[in-house]
Amino acid sequence: MSTDESRIRIVWVYPDLLSTYGDRGNVLILARRAEQRRLPVETMEVRSDQPVPRSADIYLIGGGEDGPQALAAQRLAADGTLRASAESGSVIFAICAGYQLLGHSFFAKGVQCPGLGLLDLHSDRGPTRAVGELAGDIDPRLGLPPLSGFENHGGRTHLGRGVNPLARVTTGVGNDGTTEGAWFGKTLGTYSHGPALARNPALADLLLRWAIGADRLPPLDDTWPDRLRAERRAAVAAPAGRP
Ligand code: GLN
Repeated sequence: MSTDESRIRIVWVYPDLLSTYGDRGNVLILARRAEQRRLPVETMEVRSDQPVPRSADIYLIGGGEDGPQALAAQRLAADGTLRASAESGSVIFAICAGYQLLGHSFFAKGVQCPGLGLLDLHSDRGPTRAVGELAGDIDPRLGLPPLSGFENHGGRTHLGRGVNPLARVTTGVGNDGTTEGAWFGKTLGTYSHGPALARNPALADLLLRWAIGADRLPPLDDTWPDRLRAERRAAVAAPAGRP
């Protein structure tokens, strides 16, 4: 890791195993929104055969198929850095498979696998695969507009008392048809692909705020992301079979 302390250090964890439905876009959006405020950024991709760099400001983990997800969980547990960094205040943002593996356990290919236990939740399998648009009203304490995303997962997630639901589902399934995602401290997980931070730039800014504080993050012109959000939200609201 660079020793230049002024940079915001963003680590994309295991893109060789966990990166589906445009999840890499989350790295690009975070870096772009920092650079638009003239904040220096360093992004780094760490493959699953490399040690995870310590004490980055933000770690991003994407979604994936069951096999790569189980392997990623094993390697992250053996590596240990993600847990140590979360405990020392780093931000962690995880999508779908990455979200499930932050919990106590999850199912992959019919087998229960231990997770990292960074979020008080566990995942099992649902009766059907959840595929399609995902929308919800985000926990008002986070001060964000409604979530917009795309989901594709077989797992269902059950929250313990030690986490807060990220959102109440208005379209789609999320955790269990009622809640979607979870957050605790500076760790936040969601089923939302799309990529999530392109579709929800206010969520990207929340992660940046958690990492470096609010005073260095003046508002940006979000005309284009707002158009994308309006288009997706209109698609969700359209009756079935209509454009
Ligand atoms: N393998 C997990 C599931 O199906 C996660 C899928 C994903 O990340 N899209 O539940």
